[in-house]
Amino acid sequence: MLDTATLPFTIEPNANPVAASEREALLANPGFGRVFTDHMAMIRWNTEQGWHDARICPRAPLQMDPASSVLHYAQEIFEGLKAYRTDDGGATLFRPDANARRFAESARRMAMAELPEALFLESIRALVRADRAWLPSIDGGSLYLRPFMIASEVFLGVKPSAEYLYMVIASPAGAYFKGGAPSITVWVSDDFTRAAPGGTGAAKCGGNYASGLLAQAEAIREECDQVVFLDAVERRYVEELGGMNTFFVMDDGSLQTPPLGGTILPGITRDSILTLARDAGMTVREAPYAIDQWEADAASGRLRESFACGTAAVVTPIGRVRGTSRDFRIGNGGPGEVTTRLRAQLVAIQRGQAPDPHGWVE
Ligand code: PMP
Repeated sequence: MLDTATLPFTIEPNANPVAASEREALLANPGFGRVFTDHMAMIRWNTEQGWHDARICPRAPLQMDPASSVLHYAQEIFEGLKAYRTDDGGATLFRPDANARRFAESARRMAMAELPEALFLESIRALVRADRAWLPSIDGGSLYLRPFMIASEVFLGVKPSAEYLYMVIASPAGAYFKGGAPSITVWVSDDFTRAAPGGTGAAKCGGNYASGLLAQAEAIREECDQVVFLDAVERRYVEELGGMNTFFVMDDGSLQTPPLGGTILPGITRDSILTLARDAGMTVREAPYAIDQWEADAASGRLRESFACGTAAVVTPIGRVRGTSRDFRIGNGGPGEVTTRLRAQLVAIQRGQAPDPHGWVE
């Protein structure tokens, strides 16, 4: 079986790209997730050939057999990362190797073929090269990259697919929050949990998000921004938000975040924050934090700040926590000092405006 880490990519330029004037108009206000570039990356895998047929081709709808396995049993994984335009007109990526590793780990958990890290990286780089003109130059703009993989075998049996299709699409994005990060209000879900021990919580699979939508809809109905999931066993400990990890800043200046135990997504932003905090000499704990403790500590002042973090919004202060039986404010409800400092530090590294001691930017 051929499972080589390096495959030549066939480049098929789009003969009918979006006109430059239309592209520039789209890039002036791209929003999130609705505008797409001219190209996409594709690599196929099957049991006979392993990874093969790597290409950059014009972005186009897929033709799929209705019996394709992914449509029935949700064998699907994805990633999310951003490319930024540099001042000299180039493009930078933030820790794409970490996304490549997490993608392979997600594949393993979902019994899918593991894409070699080098192929993941080359697919990203080749697509960014092909669609370089789509990197927004607006303040806070980025090119959001969405690698994903689906079970493409045409078979209704419940088993790991014998064929996979890996793809990358790209979507220019504006600043997540215009004019800096406001504080968000989060809704603690009593009814729904996200991931149980032994489940798929640590994998970035579409099914995790499908099962979280009802809880997220409840949060929106309650006029909150994000849902907080508690652990599935005791319904007591804070795990993470629908699409972000969480941090707590204590009055002794220490930082705490829930541990990676298989039920939360190992966020790359989470890992970066932990590293920056340790570099700065802060005391950092990866330890469970009970929702009742969060409320008590916010009331007593032992807790100074809380924030959420992820690729999309980087670092976002949590100003207020609500649920069926609770409603409390954190600090004065606005962005705290530690949150603001960590956010600024990370953004500067991502944008190539600060030294990069860990070699995160390429
Ligand atoms: N948790 C969940 C459930 C997420 O979807 C995300 C976004 N990928 C994160 C945390 C943050 O991960 P990252 O910092 O790698 O974007």
